[in-house]
Amino acid sequence: MMIFSIARLPRIEFGAGTLNKLPDIVAGYGRHVLLVTGAHSFINTPHWQQLLNQFQQRNMTWLHATIAEEPSPGKIDDLVKTYAGEDFAAIVGIGGGSALDAAKAIAGLLRVRHPVMDYLEGVGPELPYHGPAVPFIAVPTTAGTGSEATKNAVLSVQGKHGFKKSFRHDKLVAEYAIVDPDLLTSCPPDVIAANGMDALTQLLESYVSSRANPLTDALAISGLHAVRESLVPLYRQQGDLPKHRGNMAYAALLSGITLAQTGLGSVHGLASPLGAFYPVPHGVVCGTLVASATKMNLHSMQTREPDHPALAKYRHVAEILCQQSFSDATAAFNALIELLVQWTETLALPRLSHYGLQSSGLDHVIANCRGSSMKTNPIVLTDGEIRQILLERL
Ligand SMILES: [Zn+2]
Repeated sequence: MMIFSIARLPRIEFGAGTLNKLPDIVAGYGRHVLLVTGAHSFINTPHWQQLLNQFQQRNMTWLHATIAEEPSPGKIDDLVKTYAGEDFAAIVGIGGGSALDAAKAIAGLLRVRHPVMDYLEGVGPELPYHGPAVPFIAVPTTAGTGSEATKNAVLSVQGKHGFKKSFRHDKLVAEYAIVDPDLLTSCPPDVIAANGMDALTQLLESYVSSRANPLTDALAISGLHAVRESLVPLYRQQGDLPKHRGNMAYAALLSGITLAQTGLGSVHGLASPLGAFYPVPHGVVCGTLVASATKMNLHSMQTREPDHPALAKYRHVAEILCQQSFSDATAAFNALIELLVQWTETLALPRLSHYGLQSSGLDHVIANCRGSSMKTNPIVLTDGEIRQILLERL
Protein backbone atom coordinates (compact mmCIF):
# COMPACT_ATOMS: atom_id res chain seq x y z
CA MET A 1 0.00 0.00 0.00
CA MET A 2 1.48 3.35 -0.96
CA ILE A 3 1.75 6.04 1.71
CA PHE A 4 2.08 9.75 0.99
CA SER A 5 1.01 13.15 2.25
CA ILE A 6 0.04 16.30 0.37
CA ALA A 7 0.75 19.55 2.17
CA ARG A 8 -1.43 22.67 2.00
CA LEU A 9 -2.20 24.22 -1.38
CA PRO A 10 -3.71 27.62 -2.17
CA ARG A 11 -7.18 27.93 -3.56
CA ILE A 12 -6.57 28.35 -7.27
CA GLU A 13 -8.31 30.52 -9.87
CA PHE A 14 -6.88 29.70 -13.28
CA GLY A 15 -7.65 31.04 -16.75
CA ALA A 16 -7.59 34.05 -19.07
CA GLY A 17 -9.35 36.99 -17.42
CA THR A 18 -9.25 35.64 -13.85
CA LEU A 19 -7.45 38.80 -12.72
CA ASN A 20 -10.95 40.32 -12.66
CA LYS A 21 -11.76 38.13 -9.67
CA LEU A 22 -8.95 39.65 -7.60
CA PRO A 23 -10.79 42.76 -6.24
CA ASP A 24 -13.70 40.76 -4.81
CA ILE A 25 -11.39 38.09 -3.40
CA VAL A 26 -9.22 40.73 -1.72
CA ALA A 27 -12.27 42.63 -0.46
CA GLY A 28 -13.37 39.40 1.23
CA TYR A 29 -10.43 39.80 3.64
CA GLY A 30 -10.98 43.46 4.53
CA ARG A 31 -10.56 47.04 3.30
CA HIS A 32 -6.88 47.89 3.73
CA VAL A 33 -4.25 45.97 1.76
CA LEU A 34 -0.59 46.01 0.74
CA LEU A 35 0.19 45.53 -2.96
CA VAL A 36 3.68 44.25 -3.79
CA THR A 37 4.70 44.36 -7.46
CA GLY A 38 7.81 44.31 -9.61
CA ALA A 39 9.35 47.65 -10.51
CA HIS A 40 8.02 47.96 -14.06
CA SER A 41 6.29 45.27 -16.03
CA PHE A 42 2.85 44.96 -14.43
CA ILE A 43 2.40 48.55 -13.27
CA ASN A 44 3.07 49.77 -16.82
CA THR A 45 0.15 47.76 -18.21
CA PRO A 46 -3.49 48.94 -18.32
CA HIS A 47 -4.29 46.11 -15.85
CA TRP A 48 -2.73 48.10 -13.01
CA GLN A 49 -4.90 51.23 -13.30
CA GLN A 50 -7.95 49.06 -13.88
CA LEU A 51 -7.21 47.13 -10.71
CA LEU A 52 -6.77 50.29 -8.65
CA ASN A 53 -10.07 51.63 -10.01
CA GLN A 54 -11.79 48.42 -8.97
CA PHE A 55 -10.31 48.70 -5.46
CA GLN A 56 -11.48 52.31 -5.27
CA GLN A 57 -15.02 51.34 -6.29
CA ARG A 58 -15.03 48.96 -3.32
CA ASN A 59 -13.91 51.72 -0.92
CA MET A 60 -10.65 49.94 -0.36
CA THR A 61 -7.34 51.56 0.61
CA TRP A 62 -3.90 50.29 -0.27
CA LEU A 63 -0.19 50.91 0.00
CA HIS A 64 2.17 49.88 -2.79
CA ALA A 65 5.71 48.44 -2.51
CA THR A 66 7.90 47.64 -5.51
CA ILE A 67 10.63 45.00 -5.69
CA ALA A 68 13.28 45.77 -8.29
CA GLU A 69 15.43 42.65 -7.92
CA GLU A 70 15.67 39.30 -6.13
CA PRO A 71 14.84 40.27 -2.53
CA SER A 72 17.46 40.26 0.23
CA PRO A 73 16.77 39.71 3.95
CA GLY A 74 17.70 43.37 4.56
CA LYS A 75 15.16 44.62 2.00
CA ILE A 76 12.45 42.43 3.55
CA ASP A 77 13.22 43.62 7.09
CA ASP A 78 13.17 47.27 5.91
CA LEU A 79 9.75 46.82 4.30
CA VAL A 80 8.40 45.04 7.38
CA LYS A 81 9.63 47.95 9.51
CA THR A 82 8.03 50.47 7.13
CA TYR A 83 4.64 48.80 7.36
CA ALA A 84 4.76 47.70 11.00
CA GLY A 85 2.03 50.18 12.04
CA GLU A 86 -0.39 49.16 9.28
CA ASP A 87 -3.20 46.73 9.85
CA PHE A 88 -3.37 45.03 6.46
CA ALA A 89 -6.23 42.60 5.90
CA ALA A 90 -4.23 40.94 3.11
CA ILE A 91 -1.02 41.22 1.12
CA VAL A 92 -1.22 40.82 -2.65
CA GLY A 93 1.93 39.91 -4.60
CA ILE A 94 1.70 40.61 -8.35
CA GLY A 95 4.75 39.83 -10.51
CA GLY A 96 7.53 37.34 -11.10
CA GLY A 97 9.21 35.17 -8.49
CA SER A 98 10.96 38.11 -6.79
CA ALA A 99 7.75 40.09 -6.17
CA LEU A 100 5.83 37.00 -5.05
CA ASP A 101 8.59 35.80 -2.71
CA ALA A 102 8.98 39.28 -1.21
CA ALA A 103 5.22 39.59 -0.65
CA LYS A 104 5.13 36.10 0.87
CA ALA A 105 7.98 36.87 3.27
CA ILE A 106 6.47 40.23 4.32
CA ALA A 107 3.12 38.50 4.93
CA GLY A 108 4.92 35.99 7.13
CA LEU A 109 6.77 38.62 9.18
CA LEU A 110 4.45 41.61 9.62
CA ARG A 111 2.72 40.20 12.68
CA VAL A 112 5.86 38.55 14.05
CA ARG A 113 8.55 40.60 15.76
CA HIS A 114 11.61 38.88 14.28
CA PRO A 115 14.08 39.63 11.49
CA VAL A 116 13.78 37.14 8.63
CA MET A 117 17.33 35.86 9.26
CA ASP A 118 15.98 34.16 12.40
CA TYR A 119 13.99 31.80 10.18
CA LEU A 120 16.11 31.37 7.03
CA GLU A 121 17.26 27.81 6.39
CA GLY A 122 20.92 27.07 6.84
CA VAL A 123 22.22 30.57 7.66
CA GLY A 124 20.83 31.62 11.03
CA PRO A 125 19.44 30.23 14.26
CA GLU A 126 16.57 28.59 12.29
CA LEU A 127 14.00 29.44 14.96
CA PRO A 128 10.69 27.58 14.63
CA TYR A 129 8.13 29.77 12.88
CA HIS A 130 4.70 29.90 14.52
CA GLY A 131 3.04 32.75 12.60
CA PRO A 132 0.57 34.30 12.44
CA ALA A 133 0.95 35.34 8.80
CA VAL A 134 -1.15 37.99 7.08
CA PRO A 135 -3.32 36.37 4.37
CA PHE A 136 -1.29 36.35 1.15
CA ILE A 137 -2.68 36.34 -2.39
CA ALA A 138 -0.36 35.50 -5.29
CA VAL A 139 -0.80 36.72 -8.85
CA PRO A 140 2.07 35.52 -11.08
CA THR A 141 2.84 37.54 -14.21
CA THR A 142 5.62 35.26 -15.51
CA ALA A 143 5.35 31.51 -16.07
CA GLY A 144 8.23 30.06 -14.15
CA THR A 145 8.98 29.81 -10.47
CA GLY A 146 5.63 28.45 -9.31
CA SER A 147 5.99 30.59 -6.17
CA GLU A 148 2.19 31.04 -6.20
CA ALA A 149 1.88 27.42 -5.05
CA THR A 150 4.87 26.97 -2.73
CA LYS A 151 5.43 27.50 0.97
CA ASN A 152 8.86 29.14 0.67
CA ALA A 153 10.19 32.61 -0.04
CA VAL A 154 13.70 32.59 -1.51
CA LEU A 155 15.89 35.44 -0.29
CA SER A 156 19.43 36.16 -1.36
CA VAL A 157 22.53 38.11 -0.55
CA GLN A 158 24.77 38.55 -3.61
CA GLY A 159 28.54 38.18 -3.62
CA LYS A 160 31.39 35.84 -2.75
CA HIS A 161 30.07 35.26 0.76
CA GLY A 162 26.46 35.47 -0.34
CA PHE A 163 23.68 32.93 -0.02
CA LYS A 164 20.31 32.11 -1.46
CA LYS A 165 18.08 30.47 1.11
CA SER A 166 14.44 29.83 1.93
CA PHE A 167 12.06 31.10 4.60
CA ARG A 168 9.75 28.11 4.53
CA HIS A 169 6.55 27.22 6.33
CA ASP A 170 3.06 25.89 5.58
CA LYS A 171 1.60 29.11 7.01
CA LEU A 172 3.29 31.03 4.15
CA VAL A 173 1.30 29.25 1.43
CA ALA A 174 -0.91 31.72 -0.44
CA GLU A 175 -4.61 31.79 0.43
CA TYR A 176 -5.30 32.20 -3.27
CA ALA A 177 -3.24 31.79 -6.43
CA ILE A 178 -4.83 33.79 -9.23
CA VAL A 179 -3.19 32.59 -12.42
CA ASP A 180 -4.23 34.64 -15.44
CA PRO A 181 -2.25 33.66 -18.57
CA ASP A 182 -3.20 36.98 -20.22
CA LEU A 183 -0.67 38.63 -17.89
CA LEU A 184 2.14 36.85 -19.80
CA THR A 185 1.40 39.03 -22.82
CA SER A 186 3.91 41.67 -21.67
CA CYS A 187 6.60 39.09 -20.78
CA PRO A 188 9.72 39.51 -23.01
CA PRO A 189 11.05 36.42 -24.87
CA ASP A 190 14.22 36.01 -22.77
CA VAL A 191 12.07 35.92 -19.62
CA ILE A 192 9.70 33.41 -21.26
CA ALA A 193 12.74 31.26 -22.10
CA ALA A 194 14.41 31.32 -18.69
CA ASN A 195 11.22 30.95 -16.67
CA GLY A 196 9.86 28.28 -19.00
CA MET A 197 13.06 26.26 -18.54
CA ASP A 198 12.70 26.75 -14.77
CA ALA A 199 9.17 25.32 -14.90
CA LEU A 200 10.41 22.42 -17.05
CA THR A 201 13.28 21.74 -14.65
CA GLN A 202 10.96 21.88 -11.63
CA LEU A 203 8.55 19.41 -13.24
CA LEU A 204 11.35 17.05 -14.25
CA GLU A 205 13.13 17.22 -10.89
CA SER A 206 9.85 16.71 -8.98
CA TYR A 207 9.00 13.72 -11.17
CA VAL A 208 12.30 11.91 -10.51
CA SER A 209 12.69 13.21 -6.91
CA SER A 210 13.35 10.62 -4.23
CA ARG A 211 10.17 11.95 -2.53
CA ALA A 212 7.86 11.76 -5.57
CA ASN A 213 4.47 10.11 -5.15
CA PRO A 214 1.77 8.96 -7.62
CA LEU A 215 -0.26 12.15 -7.24
CA THR A 216 2.69 14.50 -7.88
CA ASP A 217 3.79 12.22 -10.75
CA ALA A 218 0.42 12.69 -12.46
CA LEU A 219 0.70 16.47 -12.12
CA ALA A 220 4.31 16.56 -13.30
CA ILE A 221 3.45 14.53 -16.40
CA SER A 222 0.53 16.83 -17.21
CA GLY A 223 2.84 19.84 -16.87
CA LEU A 224 5.52 18.27 -19.08
CA HIS A 225 2.97 17.75 -21.87
CA ALA A 226 2.07 21.45 -21.67
CA VAL A 227 5.74 22.51 -21.80
CA ARG A 228 6.31 20.26 -24.81
CA GLU A 229 3.45 21.85 -26.65
CA SER A 230 4.10 25.49 -25.88
CA LEU A 231 7.52 26.53 -24.56
CA VAL A 232 9.33 26.95 -27.88
CA PRO A 233 6.32 28.37 -29.82
CA LEU A 234 5.64 30.91 -27.06
CA TYR A 235 9.29 31.98 -27.09
CA ARG A 236 9.12 32.38 -30.88
CA GLN A 237 5.71 34.06 -30.65
CA GLN A 238 4.30 31.59 -33.18
CA GLY A 239 0.94 29.86 -33.47
CA ASP A 240 -1.97 30.03 -31.04
CA LEU A 241 -0.48 32.41 -28.48
CA PRO A 242 -3.39 32.43 -25.99
CA LYS A 243 -3.16 28.62 -25.88
CA HIS A 244 0.64 28.70 -25.44
CA ARG A 245 0.40 31.31 -22.67
CA GLY A 246 -2.22 29.14 -20.96
CA ASN A 247 -0.06 26.03 -21.25
CA MET A 248 3.04 27.70 -19.80
CA ALA A 249 1.11 29.35 -16.95
CA TYR A 250 -0.41 25.94 -16.22
CA ALA A 251 2.98 24.18 -16.35
CA ALA A 252 4.53 26.74 -13.99
CA LEU A 253 1.64 26.41 -11.53
CA LEU A 254 1.92 22.62 -11.56
CA SER A 255 5.69 22.82 -11.12
CA GLY A 256 5.15 24.88 -7.96
CA ILE A 257 2.59 22.42 -6.63
CA THR A 258 4.83 19.40 -7.27
CA LEU A 259 8.08 20.93 -6.00
CA ALA A 260 6.41 21.97 -2.75
CA GLN A 261 5.52 18.32 -2.16
CA THR A 262 8.58 16.48 -3.46
CA GLY A 263 11.60 18.79 -3.34
CA LEU A 264 13.86 19.20 -6.37
CA GLY A 265 17.25 17.94 -7.61
CA SER A 266 20.78 18.75 -8.63
CA VAL A 267 19.94 21.71 -10.88
CA HIS A 268 18.25 23.53 -8.02
CA GLY A 269 20.95 22.39 -5.63
CA LEU A 270 23.41 24.27 -7.85
CA ALA A 271 21.05 27.20 -8.47
CA SER A 272 21.35 28.18 -4.83
CA PRO A 273 25.13 28.93 -4.66
CA LEU A 274 25.33 30.05 -8.32
CA GLY A 275 22.56 32.60 -7.82
CA ALA A 276 24.17 33.78 -4.58
CA PHE A 277 27.77 34.15 -5.79
CA TYR A 278 27.06 35.37 -9.36
CA PRO A 279 24.43 37.74 -10.79
CA VAL A 280 22.71 34.99 -12.76
CA PRO A 281 18.88 34.89 -12.79
CA HIS A 282 17.33 31.74 -11.37
CA GLY A 283 15.62 30.64 -14.58
CA VAL A 284 18.86 31.02 -16.54
CA VAL A 285 20.73 28.73 -14.12
CA CYS A 286 18.02 26.09 -14.51
CA GLY A 287 17.81 26.41 -18.28
CA THR A 288 21.53 26.35 -18.82
CA LEU A 289 22.15 23.34 -16.54
CA VAL A 290 19.15 21.08 -17.09
CA ALA A 291 20.64 19.18 -20.05
CA SER A 292 24.05 18.50 -18.48
CA ALA A 293 22.51 17.66 -15.08
CA THR A 294 20.06 15.23 -16.69
CA LYS A 295 22.93 13.63 -18.58
CA MET A 296 24.89 13.20 -15.33
CA ASN A 297 21.93 11.73 -13.40
CA LEU A 298 21.36 9.23 -16.19
CA HIS A 299 25.04 8.34 -16.44
CA SER A 300 25.52 7.83 -12.70
CA MET A 301 22.36 5.75 -12.29
CA GLN A 302 23.17 3.59 -15.30
CA THR A 303 26.69 3.05 -13.96
CA ARG A 304 26.06 2.60 -10.24
CA GLU A 305 22.37 1.77 -9.82
CA PRO A 306 21.10 0.31 -13.12
CA ASP A 307 17.84 -0.83 -11.50
CA HIS A 308 17.03 2.63 -10.14
CA PRO A 309 13.28 3.33 -10.63
CA ALA A 310 13.97 6.91 -11.81
CA LEU A 311 15.50 5.51 -15.02
CA ALA A 312 12.07 4.33 -16.20
CA LYS A 313 10.71 7.77 -15.36
CA TYR A 314 13.39 9.50 -17.47
CA ARG A 315 12.45 7.17 -20.34
CA HIS A 316 8.84 8.29 -19.97
CA VAL A 317 9.92 11.95 -19.99
CA ALA A 318 11.85 11.27 -23.21
CA GLU A 319 8.68 9.85 -24.78
CA ILE A 320 6.62 12.89 -23.74
CA LEU A 321 9.14 15.56 -24.75
CA CYS A 322 10.37 13.86 -27.95
CA GLN A 323 6.84 12.70 -28.84
CA GLN A 324 7.91 9.20 -29.86
CA SER A 325 8.40 5.75 -28.31
CA PHE A 326 11.83 4.17 -28.06
CA SER A 327 12.82 0.53 -28.54
CA ASP A 328 15.46 0.69 -25.81
CA ALA A 329 16.27 2.84 -22.82
CA THR A 330 19.63 4.13 -24.06
CA ALA A 331 18.06 5.48 -27.24
CA ALA A 332 15.43 7.25 -25.14
CA PHE A 333 18.04 8.79 -22.81
CA ASN A 334 20.18 10.00 -25.70
CA ALA A 335 17.17 11.55 -27.42
CA LEU A 336 16.13 13.30 -24.20
CA ILE A 337 19.59 14.79 -23.66
CA GLU A 338 19.77 15.85 -27.29
CA LEU A 339 16.38 17.55 -27.07
CA LEU A 340 17.30 19.43 -23.89
CA VAL A 341 20.57 20.60 -25.47
CA GLN A 342 18.63 21.71 -28.53
CA TRP A 343 16.13 23.70 -26.45
CA THR A 344 18.99 25.33 -24.55
CA GLU A 345 20.38 26.51 -27.89
CA THR A 346 17.02 27.49 -29.39
CA LEU A 347 16.09 29.53 -26.31
CA ALA A 348 19.55 31.19 -26.34
CA LEU A 349 20.34 30.50 -22.70
CA PRO A 350 23.71 32.04 -21.80
CA ARG A 351 26.58 30.00 -20.39
CA LEU A 352 27.70 30.47 -16.79
CA SER A 353 30.96 32.22 -17.77
CA HIS A 354 28.74 35.00 -19.12
CA TYR A 355 28.03 35.87 -15.46
CA GLY A 356 31.66 35.65 -14.34
CA LEU A 357 32.00 31.99 -13.27
CA GLN A 358 35.49 30.66 -14.03
CA SER A 359 36.97 27.23 -13.37
CA SER A 360 38.72 28.69 -10.32
CA GLY A 361 35.26 29.39 -8.82
CA LEU A 362 33.91 25.85 -9.15
CA ASP A 363 35.15 24.55 -5.78
CA HIS A 364 33.31 27.30 -3.91
CA VAL A 365 30.05 26.50 -5.78
CA ILE A 366 30.40 22.75 -5.27
CA ALA A 367 31.14 23.18 -1.56
CA ASN A 368 27.82 25.05 -1.14
CA CYS A 369 25.45 23.03 -3.33
CA ARG A 370 24.32 20.32 -0.92
CA GLY A 371 21.39 22.22 0.62
CA SER A 372 17.79 21.07 0.55
CA SER A 373 17.27 20.53 -3.20
CA MET A 374 20.33 18.30 -3.70
CA LYS A 375 19.02 15.94 -1.01
CA THR A 376 16.08 14.79 -3.17
CA ASN A 377 18.12 14.24 -6.34
CA PRO A 378 17.40 10.61 -7.36
CA ILE A 379 21.05 9.61 -6.87
CA VAL A 380 23.77 11.10 -4.67
CA LEU A 381 26.30 12.70 -7.03
CA THR A 382 30.00 12.92 -6.24
CA ASP A 383 31.80 16.27 -6.21
CA GLY A 384 33.52 15.19 -9.43
CA GLU A 385 30.19 14.54 -11.12
CA ILE A 386 28.84 17.91 -10.01
CA ARG A 387 31.98 19.59 -11.36
CA GLN A 388 31.35 17.89 -14.70
CA ILE A 389 27.77 19.29 -14.84
CA LEU A 390 29.16 22.82 -14.37
CA LEU A 391 32.12 22.42 -16.71
CA GLU A 392 29.80 21.51 -19.59
CA ARG A 393 28.06 24.89 -19.28
CA LEU A 394 30.95 27.09 -18.18
ZN1 LIG B 1 13.30 26.90 -9.95
